[in-house]
Formats: sequence, C-alpha cells, structure tokens
Amino acid sequence: MENLKEKYLRFRPVSAEPEINEDRLTADLTRYLALARELGASDATVVEREDWHLDPRVTLKCAVPRCRNYSTCANCPPHSPGATETAVLIDRYRKGILLRWQYQRETSRDEGAGLRRATYVSLAALEAAAFYDGYYLACGFGSGSCRLSLCGDSLCQEITEPHKGCRNPLLARPSMEAMGFDVFKTAAQAGWILNPAGRGCPEDIAANLSRIAIVLIV
Ligand code: SF4
Repeated sequence: MENLKEKYLRFRPVSAEPEINEDRLTADLTRYLALARELGASDATVVEREDWHLDPRVTLKCAVPRCRNYSTCANCPPHSPGATETAVLIDRYRKGILLRWQYQRETSRDEGAGLRRATYVSLAALEAAAFYDGYYLACGFGSGSCRLSLCGDSLCQEITEPHKGCRNPLLARPSMEAMGFDVFKTAAQAGWILNPAGRGCPEDIAANLSRIAIVLIV
C-alpha cells in the first residue's frame, strides 16, 4: 500500500474557492479508476448523479424475506441510516466511482471471506485517496454486510459491546443496498448486466457473479 500511496495520493489542501476545478477533477477521477483496478477491481467507471438510482423498496428486501444480517449488524437495516432520509444526503453528490468485482461462487469459506474483505479494503483505500486529495466529503458504500465480510461469524461488537465499538472502524460501512441504492439498475446503467443470484440459481449464473460498490466523490 505504501507504493500505491506514493503513486496515487496527492495530499492537497482544501481550496477556499467554492467551485471545483473540473479539469483537475477529471484527472483525479481517471487516477482513481487506475487505482481501483490496481487494487483488484474487475471494472471501475465514473458515474454522475443521473447514473445511480435510489429506491427505498431495496431496504424492504433486507427484511422481506429476512436476510440473516438484518438487525445483526450496525451497518445493516434497521440500524443503518434509513433509505428515505439518506436519499436526501446522497442527492448532494454529483460524481462518483462505481466498482465491480467479478467472481465465481466461492468454493470455500476462506475464499469467500478473503474476497469480501478485499472489496472493503479497496473501497476504504479509494475513499482515503479522494479524502487526502481534498474531496473530504468522499464517502464509499460496500456490498453485502460488513459483519460477514469483516467479522466472520462473530457478533457485531458495535451492537453487543457498544462501549468497545466497531472492530474495523476504518473499513466497515453500509452497503449500497442498505443505503437504498438500486444496485441492479445502477450497474445496468453502467453496462454491467447482473443476474439476480441465490443458492438456487443455475451454475452458469453462479460462475459469473459480481459485487458492486460505489465511492461518491463530490
Ligand atoms: S465490522 Fe464493525 S459494524 Fe461491521 S459487524 Fe463488525 S463490529 Fe459490527
């Protein structure tokens, strides 16, 4: 990661100018795409406000039928910020980086855990790069529950022992779906066509799965 820091981070002060320099922003976004790929993402693309879609029914699907992470993780519904209220906040952003990791259905628990953790590590690194470049409101959202991805079978410490707090405070974050992003529609808008997948899906679908995440930059 030290090499990547030297290569990609700029550590700029925040300008007093109210307007963002668009040429510099374009160059920075291009650099973040390269960083995303270097960190292991299969695809990364710049998205604008009209390219991402929000729908509060997405978080309904966390509860009906009930996901095993529902209410067991501080970053999952109903503990995560509500989709309707966060839509107002997300609406303030106008550009971001959408990320995809392609994979086959994991053949081992370790393999699955490693992939899930790697996506959160990459997301945090991208968010940090933007933050240190002066985009201090950059904010990333992951894929799936941070409980499974970062804490494995352990209970969420943020819920069970709030005085100790989260075990992974710099990595853990809500997923796109927990925030109310329509991930299928947003990915399709980027040209990434996803199959709804689950335990009962055919092998050809299980061999072509994706995880999707986003970093909102400005
Ligand atoms: S990473 Fe933090 S918020 Fe997520 S399950 Fe673990 S302790 Fe809870």
